[in-house]
Amino acid sequence: MEFEMKKVSQLTNEQLTVELALLRQDERHTQARFLVHLSEMEERKLFAIEGYSAFTYLTRKLGYSEGSAYKRIVAARAIRRFPKLYTLLWDGKVTLTTVSMIHCHLTEENQHQVLSQVEGKSRLAVEKLMASLNLTQNNFSGEVASCHYVKEDRVRFKFTADAKLLEMVQRARELLGHQYPHANFEDIFTKAMEFFLSKHDPLFNEQKKCIEPKKCTVPKQCDPYESAAGKQQAQNHETMEHSKARVEMPKSHETEPGKQNQSNNSSGVSNRSRYIPQRLKNEVWKKDQGRCSYVSTAGHRCEERGFLQIDHIEPWAFGGSSTLDNLRLLCFRHNQLMAERYFSK
Ligand SMILES: [Zn+2]
Repeated sequence: MEFEMKKVSQLTNEQLTVELALLRQDERHTQARFLVHLSEMEERKLFAIEGYSAFTYLTRKLGYSEGSAYKRIVAARAIRRFPKLYTLLWDGKVTLTTVSMIHCHLTEENQHQVLSQVEGKSRLAVEKLMASLNLTQNNFSGEVASCHYVKEDRVRFKFTADAKLLEMVQRARELLGHQYPHANFEDIFTKAMEFFLSKHDPLFNEQKKCIEPKKCTVPKQCDPYESAAGKQQAQNHETMEHSKARVEMPKSHETEPGKQNQSNNSSGVSNRSRYIPQRLKNEVWKKDQGRCSYVSTAGHRCEERGFLQIDHIEPWAFGGSSTLDNLRLLCFRHNQLMAERYFSK
């Protein structure tokens, strides 16, 4: 660093100006080449094979911020569809920001017209152009930026929603009024999230039990709610009465109608039945800690907690049974990868 600074400090003004321009050009060229490599990595499914999504690979492995990773991924995909974008990025006629704003509006038919209109334009000018064409912006990057920590355990959300959401929030506030006359938006959304998660997330009620240590069956390090949300929930238990609308876990002896007589497992359902009872699904979720269970050959476990599917390790079509040791959680990406591997054997 010191050597580089000393070297640069000895340049003349003209040399410094020329070098800076050359470095900017190199940066653009490197970026364009990076996008082509990124696109090829994705095409070969190398991110999935390594146990990542493209997004987690760029953020966790390569150290990009969420917004920067998003822009690169959409640009890499757009370049594959519209190769002219590569030349425009190489020449500095469009930026990654511009590509991330317009990519979802590009078609085979309009690409030349749209790209000629955004060439050399600033972000604000592109925004104005899109507004004049009545085009909505892809707001993913906005969503990433809409959640900020304001204290260690406090987060500020910011998003734009349909007016119907406001009506629903106001109605919920009225309904909660007799129990919580001073309920604010945080209380209402906390109640809504508790209701939703207790209905749809098998780990949620296990986490609730962790508030009462004797009943805890989930290892603490596996608890997805152990941080701010978990603390907030614990506080809510202390300060607010339990809602009468709380949803209980699904019935533990749920069976598929008409299957009772074939049973040979504890749930009363045949292991060769494709139907997986809710109790067994919950056990799979607990076993895999609510997270994709794919592990790469290098030992990296996929971090995906969304879009999870229950997968038969030995496929059902090949005689695999619906038992706990033959079931696992996989994200859609790794479910697809495993299916491709298995069926190409
Ligand atoms: Zn996965």
